[in-house]
Formats: sequence, C-alpha cells, structure tokens
Amino acid sequence: MTIKYIDKVNIKGKRVMIRVDYNVPYDKSMNITDDTRITATLPTINYCLKEGCKIILVSHMGRPKGKPVPEMSLKPVAARLASILGREVKFIETPLGEEVAKSVSAMKDGDIILLENIRFYPGEEKNDPDLGRQLAALCDVYVDDAFAAAHRGHSSNDAITKFAKEAAAGFLLENEIEYFKKAMDNPARPLGAIIGGAKVSTKLDALKNILSKVNYIIIGGGMAFTFLKAKGYNVGKSLLEADLVAAAKEIMDEAAKKGVEILLPVDIVAAPEFDNNAPRTVVPADKMTDSMIGLDIGPESIRQFSDKIMSSKTVIWNGPMGAFEMPNFAEGTNAVAKALAESGSLSIVGGGDSVSAVNQSGVADRISYISTGGGAWLELLEGKTLPGIAALDR
Ligand code: AMP
Repeated sequence: MTIKYIDKVNIKGKRVMIRVDYNVPYDKSMNITDDTRITATLPTINYCLKEGCKIILVSHMGRPKGKPVPEMSLKPVAARLASILGREVKFIETPLGEEVAKSVSAMKDGDIILLENIRFYPGEEKNDPDLGRQLAALCDVYVDDAFAAAHRGHSSNDAITKFAKEAAAGFLLENEIEYFKKAMDNPARPLGAIIGGAKVSTKLDALKNILSKVNYIIIGGGMAFTFLKAKGYNVGKSLLEADLVAAAKEIMDEAAKKGVEILLPVDIVAAPEFDNNAPRTVVPADKMTDSMIGLDIGPESIRQFSDKIMSSKTVIWNGPMGAFEMPNFAEGTNAVAKALAESGSLSIVGGGDSVSAVNQSGVADRISYISTGGGAWLELLEGKTLPGIAALDR
C-alpha cells in the first residue's frame, strides 16, 4: 500500500480539510469528559498552521442516524479546541450549502473551521458520492487523521477521496499505521500478543490472524474460560461461550502445529457473585467449582505472564485480564500493564479497556504507542484492510 503522508504534500497556504475523529464523551451537560481524541490531532493541526493553511475540520459524533440530534452536536468540541489552541475555531452548523461555501471562501491563512457532526446527513454512513463531492469541493487537499473511524467506509473518509484534488494521511493516522507495521510486519522478536476481554467471539478472527505472526499469545479475561473449558476444566459460572469451545480447541491445536505458545491462566481469582465486595478465592485453574465465577487471573498467572512479557522485544495488547472495573479484580490487568511498561519492549496497546487499564495503572507514558482506535485497531489485528486507509491508496 502506498499512502502519502501529509509532510510529503505541498499544503502551503492551501485549504486543507482534515477528517478527524472527535467522537469524545460528554457528560449530561455536554461537558467533554476526555479530550484525548482532540489532543491526538494537534500534531496535524499545528503542522497545517505552521504551513499557513486554512483548516476545515470534519468529524462525526455518536450515531445520530442521519438527522440532527442536539446532544450529538460538535459545538462543545469547537470551544475546547479553541481553548487548547488559544485561537478562534469557527463552528459551522450547516456543513453543506451556501453558508459553509461563503465561510470557506472568506477564510484567511491560519483560520480554523469545525463543521457540525457530518452524520447528521444520511449520506455520510451510506458513503454517498454526492456528499463526498460536496465536501471535496471545499478544499484543495484532503487529509485523513481519523484512525478510530478508518474501519468504516463513509463519505467523509472514503467517497471524498474520489473527488479531492489531493489526499493524504495526517500524523495520527501515520503513527497508527507505522507502529502497527513495526509490530506485525517485521518485528523484533520474541513478538507476543496479550488478548483478553469478555468474549472469544469478538476476538476470534484476530486470534486466527495473529497465530501466523506471533511467538506466543497470552489469553486472559472472561474469554480465557472458553479455552480452559476446551482443556476439559470446570469453569463454574464464569463467562463461557459454549458454542466456541471447539474453535478454542482448534486455535490451541493450530498454535501447537505452528510452534506458537499459548499461555492460559494457571490460577484464577474467583468469587460467588459478580460484585466487587464478594469474597475472593484464589484457585488453580483446573480446580474451579460449580458455584465460582472467575473474575481475574491469579498471582501465579501474573508471575508467568509478566515473565513472558519481560522477555519480549515486541508486545501487542488488547483486552483486560479480568473484570478490572471492579478494583478487587483489577490486579491481573494492572500487573500486565506494569510488566509491559517495564519490559522495555516495543509495546502497543489498543482497545478502550486496555487503554483505560494502562492509564489507571499510571504507566501510559512508558508504553511505546497507545492506539486511538478500538474497533479499527481490532480490525487491523484481524488482518483486514480498513476502508478509510484503502481510500487513501487510490
Ligand atoms: P472487551 O470489550 O471484549 O475487551 O471486554 C472488556 C470487558 O470484559 C470489561 O468490561 C471487563 O470487565 C470484562 N471482563 C474481563 N474479564 C472478565 C471476567 N473474567 N468476567 C467477566 N467480565 C470480564
């Protein structure tokens, strides 16, 4: 794939439309509770400012299903971005039509406009070429910096590239692509994957795809119980996808054939109820009883997983080791985050929960790269070509 990055395109003084992902969380009063997705786009925005561009920002927020939904307005984002940059960010309520055309033609170098939630238009999610054409008409150069939306082929990241005079990836998208390639295409070995979270079903394709790339896979979290069941263990009342026990067995068989080590928890922190205050018991993984729910990995698993991580050169991580939202069952997840930070390996973390775990453990600054995409990153792990990235390769 040959994608042009923004610093290889002449954008000096031009009208640059940047597709960003400002799908940030709001509280009930529409205050932004986490602006990571805004700050993640600053390298591209600041570069465009340095080049004297007129910047038009396009984003979606939530799932308004093609009509205006006031709670999904991007207006608060314009205010936050303005305060971060210390300069005006003009908010345009109607991204298509005369108002925006007039505002854009009146822009001076260094001006910034943020368009209202593009998903207020039904064409966006339908990848409507006409919407793509209208957006492209507003700019000289189109830049995609919305990695977290790259697994969707919509008008503002796909159709638009058919009409834009020039299209390139911004620095955030570049980082996401380049770090992923570094880990998966030609990694320093040993290369390991830590895969956790609730369900095997959502990670099955990713597991299958990485089997031919990694040296080992650590499997933790609720999904580990389907694997433990496949080994013939009683998993009590733990999360189990009975219909995927055979698939779990196949993955373990395939791994053995390929010489890929699969590390499962050898001990479990269990409780009689899904409750932070429920009494905790540590049991060997093959000694769970009918009344137990496995909610975290045990101390011996932590030791084994950490040793493995510490001896790696490259590690990717998606999904927590337990029900880590409950502090009494967060130890395994936090320990994995710490081992990753201390390993000195090239470490890449993706997926909302693993990212929160890394932040919660206070080690985020020692992780090589934290992906801004949950679904998009998982699809990369699945080996898929993301439509938003493929569109830049036209
Ligand atoms: P995912 O979105 O698939 O990465 O799953 C993340 C969710 O899995 C988190 O909300 C965790 O609380 C949950 N989870 C992880 N381990 C367990 C477990 N052993 N039992 C129940 N839920 C779990």
